[in-house]
Amino acid sequence: MPNRIKTVTNPKEFFFSENSYPNKSLGQNFIKDLRVIDRIIELAELSSEDEVLEIGPGLGALTLALTDNAGKVVAIEKDKKLVKHLSELFRDYPNVKLVHQDALKADFSSFYSGKKMKAISNLPYSVSSPILFKLLQAREYFSCMVLMLQLEVGERITACPGGKTYGSISVLLQTFMDITTEFRVHPASFWPKPKVDSIVLKLVPLKVPRAAVSDEKLYEKVVRAAFSSRRKMIGNSLQSIMSRDSARELLELSGIDKTRRAETLTIEEFGVLVDKVSLIEKQSMS
Ligand code: SAM
Repeated sequence: MPNRIKTVTNPKEFFFSENSYPNKSLGQNFIKDLRVIDRIIELAELSSEDEVLEIGPGLGALTLALTDNAGKVVAIEKDKKLVKHLSELFRDYPNVKLVHQDALKADFSSFYSGKKMKAISNLPYSVSSPILFKLLQAREYFSCMVLMLQLEVGERITACPGGKTYGSISVLLQTFMDITTEFRVHPASFWPKPKVDSIVLKLVPLKVPRAAVSDEKLYEKVVRAAFSSRRKMIGNSLQSIMSRDSARELLELSGIDKTRRAETLTIEEFGVLVDKVSLIEKQSMS
């Protein structure tokens, strides 16, 4: 096996030879089970026409498979040492663009060439939620996303109303994207082994959101406020952003009982709730 392939499939060997150790704060758990990579590639249904954005290429194991199956790959990596390794590895790959940057600060739309991209990543767990929200905001530039996450985060994203795991992340992502749970990955598939299982999700931006949302910022603000205190009734939790009278009026106009808790509201009900905000006194909102 050529050396460079060995280093990406044997992350331990790479770090030993560098006399260093993966950076925990950067969520560095590298895939060593190539079957996981095959399944991700299959799910992404790649063709030579596709342009891929990968966040956190690491040692390049997934990136290599992406370059074999897609037309172009843009890979954003924060760790300088890994960027150096990746630059070597992909020196002769004209279809790979390496970006040494913090993905949280990147403008994903700047990688858009006019053809919708596919976001494919084993996300750094330390920043998976903020990256998900960045991808959500940039969804118009993506045809789909295949993302590996911590199981617990994946469960929150796909949760249904009524359950303990249903929260603002479930509502905000499911309003705008079709999300399917694809497969679970055991910690032994990575080096170093994470403490928890992982899950691969496929997210497809919807042409028409599940709730009619005219002001996305306001929608996010109201949804987050509703879940700000899970034990509180919605009439009380909404008081974190509006007066008690406005909250009562808003819930009456929306036909939602003020004694319900946020986790019982469907996405459509959140849509109605936010739609009616314009009818109450906006000045009373903080
Ligand atoms: N793709 C590789 C794999 O599957 O083996 C590595 C995945 S590892 C879970 C996450 C990668 O994201 C690491 O390489 C880490 O350095 C990188 N990373 C962490 N935070 C980042 C950030 N804010 N922006 C870009 N890359 C980041």
